[in-house]
Amino acid sequence: MIYSSRESIVRRPKRMHFVDLTPYTYSSKQDDTPTMNIGWLDIAVPFERGSVPAGFVERLKTLIQNPYARTRGFHACQFCDDLQAALHCADDIERKLYEDCHADGRFSSAEIRVRGKDGRQYAAPRMIAHYVEVHGYKPPEEFIEAVMQGDR
Ligand SMILES: [Zn+2]
Repeated sequence: MIYSSRESIVRRPKRMHFVDLTPYTYSSKQDDTPTMNIGWLDIAVPFERGSVPAGFVERLKTLIQNPYARTRGFHACQFCDDLQAALHCADDIERKLYEDCHADGRFSSAEIRVRGKDGRQYAAPRMIAHYVEVHGYKPPEEFIEAVMQGDR
């Protein structure tokens, strides 16, 4: 999807929801590696919460510094109440909000890949680090293991 301005991006956050560990089909930039969805949350669908190992969030934050691909749109965190309220404010506030959120990870405009066992990999939105750190999202165990064992 092509947006003409930042304002339109902010005003109409797009919803992208995929169940964890279902086959990934979102991006057209695909290779032959079996790829599973992780962390494509939606406010209408309950998600797993719980504690994650020490260092997990830090590893995710490192991973999102080097995204695999840009996504086709921008997605704003649906779980931040203040963010959802501010999306309906004046343009100058939106612009500031957009910049702040991009810096702190509440907007996702990219996705990452994590290598797992048995030749599979995982595709997650950039926002996954924010989901884990701020909203208590606990990804499937095999994804946590893959992140913790990764050499990046
Ligand atoms: Zn949030």
